[in-house]
Amino acid sequence: MNKHSIAIIGSGFAGLAAAAVLAGKGHNVTIYEKNDQPGGRARTWESDGFKFDMGPSWYWMPEVFEEFYQLFGKTTSDFYDLKRLDPGYRIYWTKNDSTDIPAKLNELETLFESMEPGSASNLRDFLEQAEFKYKTGMGDYVFRPSNSVTEYLDLGLLKESFKIQLFTSISKHLKKYFKHPKLLKLLEFPVLFLGGTAKNTPALYSMMNYADLVLGTWFPIGGMNEIVKAMTSIATERGVKICLNQEVKAIRTEGNMAIGIETDQGFHPADMIISNADYQHTDQYLLKKEHRNYSPGYWDKRVLSPSSLLFYIGLNKKVHNILHHNLFFDEDLEQHAREIYETPQWPEKPLFYVSCTSKTDPSSAPDDGENLFFLMPLAPGIEDTEELREKYFDMLLNRFEHITGESIRQSIVVKRSYAINDFVDDYHSFKGNAYGLANTLMQTAFLKPKMRSKKIKNLLFTGQLTVPGPGVPPAIISGRVAAAEAIKILDR
Ligand SMILES: Cc1cc2nc3c(=O)[nH]c(=O)nc-3n(C[C@H](O)[C@H](O)[C@H](O)COP(=O)(O)OP(=O)(O)OC[C@H]3O[C@@H](n4cnc5c(N)ncnc54)[C@H](O)[C@@H]3O)c2cc1C
Repeated sequence: MNKHSIAIIGSGFAGLAAAAVLAGKGHNVTIYEKNDQPGGRARTWESDGFKFDMGPSWYWMPEVFEEFYQLFGKTTSDFYDLKRLDPGYRIYWTKNDSTDIPAKLNELETLFESMEPGSASNLRDFLEQAEFKYKTGMGDYVFRPSNSVTEYLDLGLLKESFKIQLFTSISKHLKKYFKHPKLLKLLEFPVLFLGGTAKNTPALYSMMNYADLVLGTWFPIGGMNEIVKAMTSIATERGVKICLNQEVKAIRTEGNMAIGIETDQGFHPADMIISNADYQHTDQYLLKKEHRNYSPGYWDKRVLSPSSLLFYIGLNKKVHNILHHNLFFDEDLEQHAREIYETPQWPEKPLFYVSCTSKTDPSSAPDDGENLFFLMPLAPGIEDTEELREKYFDMLLNRFEHITGESIRQSIVVKRSYAINDFVDDYHSFKGNAYGLANTLMQTAFLKPKMRSKKIKNLLFTGQLTVPGPGVPPAIISGRVAAAEAIKILDR
């Protein structure tokens, strides 16, 4: 095998995964990252003894991480202590009315039965089908590069497509099994991770309910950034060089081949380029017009995942009435969804989520303090000002205090907001999206922006805007698939 030099733009999970795999095969890999830390959206921010994960906070599908570590003869516990949360999370319906989601299936069945008699056996049937989808999807579909529809044209897969319900919505699917509005909301929640709504997401993705309710919610002690540290150490041990604070300004080409990248510190030749930067940024800003895969009109028509309004909050006291993960579903999800997808605007009565990592990992806050992370989904591409952020902070705090009965306003010692403009500035995120493209039917598999460049033979795209989609586990898989594609191209 010839040793090639490979440049990777961006150090998100997909970039790190691709780099580790390719360096493991003996190639010279360099990652160029514009920010001062690796990890992309999973960076950390520290202030006054508080350590905040800036992006992802839910650790789902633990086997995807384990399989990645095993590629390198490692296991999860070589890097961090992984704890299953029980209860997994709490949903607040209104003041004095909440539901904790237990980790044990028999307790979950009892909970369902208490809300809707007969629903425990429906839950068993529903989860059995969700397991089939998960195992089919994660075993086979998810590792296909989706270069062409022909990858999906074998009869077995076509039959399975009907069984795994690509063509009906998850909303319709759920209503066949359950009636109680709280059960429906609870089961629609994982769809939010896919950037869409229950009405526009294929029922295939009830596999996420299997991930949630059966595989469970976990937390790496030390925080989500421990995954970044693990992947960085695997990559650098194999010789990957990570150049931080080095923004890529252009991909230089000759004919239909890339010959290297221009950064703010000079030209770096390469035999293969993999971009983990937001796809639209690479496509529209790092390539010459004639080498772009898509037009501005194409990008404008994509259904993006929401952006988010985030607050990183440090408290100088303990909060007792919440769990690690808390969903505030006291308002109408449908209206908030319309204000994200149909008539993009700041929501009138938003749903929101609060994580309190110090409940599981005391090291994330000083003694007697608490580490809180507020997240409110927001339409991408809309106006983002300090005044709007403050208005919503006030609204979320009022609701948090009213519903949980905990007063925290006077105990805030650290506060930082983060929203659309920051996503654009920090990650070159298209319209400030938080987690890529929504997994609607028309944006699934080979209908997603392509991993391979159509014009430049040795250029690939990886990460949450291409296959398989948004989320940390899919980003890791995306990097593995891109590495496999790079090897196919280099071996030609
Ligand atoms: C607020 C929030 C909450 C989330 N919650 C969860 C969760 O709980 N669980 C979960 O599984 N997922 C969650 N996600 C989604 C998950 O974090 C992402 O899908 C995943 O991290 C994306 O990884 P990626 O590899 O696609 O790249 P990114 O993380 O987007 O990294 C891309 C990198 O490219 C760099 N870059 C961009 N342009 C350039 C350039 N020109 N030159 C050099 N570098 C460049 C960027 O700085 C960045 O570091 C969340 C995301 C957000 C934002």
